[in-house]
Amino acid sequence: MLSLSAVATRQGKLQGRGPVCVVQNTNVIAVGIEPALLVGHESAPLTLPIDAPKDALTELLDELREDAVAILPAGRLEPALRRLHVLQSALDGRCRIACLQTELSPLAASALVRLAASVAPEAPSAALLADAVPALEHELLVAAVLPSVLRLRRPKPPFGARLRSLLPGARFLVSPEPEPVVASLRRAGAVPTLLDDARDEVAVVAAGRVRGLQGPAELLGEVFGGAQIDEVDAPPGLAGRWRVTQAIEAVAYPIDAAAMARRVLGLQAAPCPWCGEPHAALPCALCGHDRNRALTRQEIAV
Ligand SMILES: [Zn+2]
Repeated sequence: MLSLSAVATRQGKLQGRGPVCVVQNTNVIAVGIEPALLVGHESAPLTLPIDAPKDALTELLDELREDAVAILPAGRLEPALRRLHVLQSALDGRCRIACLQTELSPLAASALVRLAASVAPEAPSAALLADAVPALEHELLVAAVLPSVLRLRRPKPPFGARLRSLLPGARFLVSPEPEPVVASLRRAGAVPTLLDDARDEVAVVAAGRVRGLQGPAELLGEVFGGAQIDEVDAPPGLAGRWRVTQAIEAVAYPIDAAAMARRVLGLQAAPCPWCGEPHAALPCALCGHDRNRALTRQEIAV
């Protein structure tokens, strides 16, 4: 619990913004990733589109009062980094930004930035929130329906599935993690399931299309154990990630935001000796200080 003087100092920092009820220490900036709308997660991240006009940057500068975690797509890293550098120089040190890349597929990345924003109010620092992002990625279960797995690399398809890709009307359900799945969807066969009876715990966003596949929501409902399926617009690059020209991607996520925040923020945190912010992983995501490397250097010096 914060002491009165700590509250006063923090409110002091936020002068001019009117009454502050909940003091948030950290923000999320989705760079080049459009956040998905998710059941149970109302908080939205700040966004910095890669082709943002100058006004959008000015607006973001006005809104950004706390340290932040910027999440960038590894697949489109260069333009996203350039945008972020422009923002950082415009901020002129007013707040710090921990920068993270995600390798997740496009729709999963759009779910990730929303979940990160959902956890942000509970995070004691931007450094600790950055350390929790890998755990947040593991809260997602990603699957795709593809007409071919001939060129798919992750998960690696077995030889039989690649051969089957050459047949007309072939269709596959694939999932890279936690267990790699490449299952053929036959017209009369049973649908493989990734979750059992999940309707109370998870919901699913799905996007994209596969020619000739009717009622994808029904199929995905079976795959994800009866969870609610919300179809959304496909983010750019969706099919390309799966190395096909048409794909449906689906991402299951937990709907209980508070329980999720407890799971992912339950990290052993300590204040960083350099910047003072609580963090868990090394080096510190905000300032780059590595406690272990500093200690080793001291020992060598002695
Ligand atoms: Zn630090």
